[in-house]
Amino acid sequence: MKVSIEKDYNSLSEKAVYLFKELVESSNIKNIAFPTGNTPKLFYKKLVELYKDNKIKLSESSGFLIDEYYPIKKESKDSFNYYIEKNFFAHVDLKAKYSLDGNNLDFLTECRNYEELIEEKGGLDLTILGIGENGHLGFNEPGSEFNSRTRLVELKNGTLDLNRAKYDSGTVPKYALTLGIYEIFKSKKIILMASGESKSERVKDLFNGSISNNLPVSVLRLHPDIEVLLDKGAATLIEDNIVELVN
Ligand code: PGA
Repeated sequence: MKVSIEKDYNSLSEKAVYLFKELVESSNIKNIAFPTGNTPKLFYKKLVELYKDNKIKLSESSGFLIDEYYPIKKESKDSFNYYIEKNFFAHVDLKAKYSLDGNNLDFLTECRNYEELIEEKGGLDLTILGIGENGHLGFNEPGSEFNSRTRLVELKNGTLDLNRAKYDSGTVPKYALTLGIYEIFKSKKIILMASGESKSERVKDLFNGSISNNLPVSVLRLHPDIEVLLDKGAATLIEDNIVELVN
């Protein structure tokens, strides 16, 4: 596990873009899973700027959205499909873009098809992630099995409260479709970003806590190729010697 601590959110986002560019250009990274949420917003903004300046080529890369509310229409301004289009997909020429459809009544088939699609394309080469304040990964909430597959999940109250703050129209959905921990963990590389003191407890748990499905993010400690990017706020509770140890 590599860990970098940047001075603030801006530097953290810059570092993420730099790393992303390096990976896409130097290794065989084709299938990339992307998150939504507040954390990656500046990363996407900077990545789009880089792309518009012709400083990164993405036409060989395919994008896969990690999760989506359920039920929700893709066109809804609150959907993750809308978010990723608005913040990233619509501005770049990815080879292909894929997502879970939160409006498919047959969610079992929807999830199975998404998993199969990822398999057919050769699996995920890179997954970009944030950390939930309760330690969730994608929408794999505490209690999710480490071998959980892509599926419909019920969101916990704390997650609903945080989602409500970001949700504009009506009642925030109580369910979501998400890549399973199994699919996320199978990704060849992972970049995990965390910004701000509200994430510092979970970041501490990531390094110090037990590896347990009560804290889905803890499974990442076992991942063979993960780079953790923090800003000072998110790193408040970790000790310098831990960073040296894991680097
Ligand atoms: P956030 O969400 O980036 O909006 O904090 C992260 C997450 O819930 O995984």
